[in-house]
Amino acid sequence: MRKKIVAGNWKMNMTFDEGQKLTSEIVNMYKDENVKDVIAILNPPFPHIFPVKKLIGDVEGISIGAQNCSDKEAGAYTGEVSAKILASFGVEYVIIGHSERREYFNEDNDLLAIKVKEALANGLKPIFCCGESLDIRTAGTHEPNVKFQLTQSLFDLSPEDFSKIVIAYEPIWAIGTGKTASADEAQEMHLALRRHISSKYGKDIAANTSILYGGSCNPKNAQEIFSKPDVDGGLIGGASLKSRDFMDIIKSF
Ligand code: PEP
Repeated sequence: MRKKIVAGNWKMNMTFDEGQKLTSEIVNMYKDENVKDVIAILNPPFPHIFPVKKLIGDVEGISIGAQNCSDKEAGAYTGEVSAKILASFGVEYVIIGHSERREYFNEDNDLLAIKVKEALANGLKPIFCCGESLDIRTAGTHEPNVKFQLTQSLFDLSPEDFSKIVIAYEPIWAIGTGKTASADEAQEMHLALRRHISSKYGKDIAANTSILYGGSCNPKNAQEIFSKPDVDGGLIGGASLKSRDFMDIIKSF
């Protein structure tokens, strides 16, 4: 059975104190409200990783992820953080290919394929983001466009490695805009992606791949989106910065 996952992407937000407060609140609510069967992943900026992980402690169901990793193994790459370093700090997941990385840091499908392999080689589970721009959605070519992102960055992985991937479908026009894909639009794309995965890796692997929706997901719309059969949770930006909102999204299944 595939996992239900709600991952919070803090992006470049939160001072040390703010991050500690947010994490403590989430951890306490997660325990007090008896959340079951939903993995919550906190993806803070790099310096928060160690202290946030400490606060999470051994609470089952909450994991720590990073927002990016280097495509390089190690060495003279000032400012970069390798998958190996992340793994050594107990990081479990890493977001790869977020549209903001693709757009502002020129990360293309080929580079992302290398990052995915680097993450997997070090035992991290990639949360691989894909999604189309508004122009592509308007032109009606969103489905082939997003499938191509998967093909280019993921489809030379072995079945064993592919099984460790979490997919996040994030239409770019919905990220941080307050404009959400409808639940039906999300379902349509998730089903198309699952079929695409099935065509390469077979029905079982496709059925076991968690596909998350991202793009202005909030406590008001999460329940309807998560009720769709091929939506296995969310990658949450803005709403992950407020503990109550993040928890209400987690409890929307
Ligand atoms: C994101 O950054 O992955 C995201 C989905 O952001 P938001 O929820 O703010 O749209």
